[in-house]
Amino acid sequence: MTQRNTTLSRHVTSEGIVVWTRCACGRLRMDLLPTAGGAPLTAGPCPRCHTGPDPLSPDRG
Ligand SMILES: [Zn+2]
Repeated sequence: MTQRNTTLSRHVTSEGIVVWTRCACGRLRMDLLPTAGGAPLTAGPCPRCHTGPDPLSPDRG
């Protein structure tokens, strides 16, 4: 099973590129990619799909 994020839109702003994506579970997420470089900012990260490997997940699947 592959979890894919869907890119909804991209906006170039004075601060950088704002990318709206929809998580595989339907949650909205916003990423700001600074034009000046540096680490991207993420708003609304999905706690369910982006927690990495979770060995203790009895209800997975
Ligand atoms: Zn998700």
